[in-house]
Amino acid sequence: MTINVKNLSEPTVTCSTCKACCCRLEVLLISETGVPKKHIATDKWGGETMLRLNDGWCSALDRKTMLCTIYENRPWICREFEMGSYECLEERAEGM
Ligand code: SF4
Ligand code: SF4
Repeated sequence: MTINVKNLSEPTVTCSTCKACCCRLEVLLISETGVPKKHIATDKWGGETMLRLNDGWCSALDRKTMLCTIYENRPWICREFEMGSYECLEERAEGM
C-alpha cells in the first residue's frame, strides 16, 4: 500500500513570492552596519531609520527585482526579521 504524504517541510512562505512586504516597515538603525548615508533618514532627535520613499518602500530596495541593494550592509533589524515568522506572515497578509 502506498500512502501519499504531503511534504510538510516544503516552505510555502518564501521571499521570492513576496513583494518585499517587510521592506515597508520602519527600520531603526541600532548598530553600524555600513548603510550608505543616502538611504538613512534622521529624525529631529537624531534617531536614524532607513529612508522610505513615497511608494512606502525602503529606498535601498530595487523596485524591479524587489531585492535589497545593500544586502551585505543591511541593518541589524533586517537581518533578524525571520521569513515565516509571525511578523512576516502578518506583513504578507496585509501587503500581498
Ligand atoms: S515579509 Fe517575509 S516573505 Fe516577505 S520579504 Fe519579508 S521576510 Fe520575506
Ligand atoms: S535595508 Fe534592505 S532588507 Fe532592509 S528594509 Fe531596506 S531593502 Fe529591505
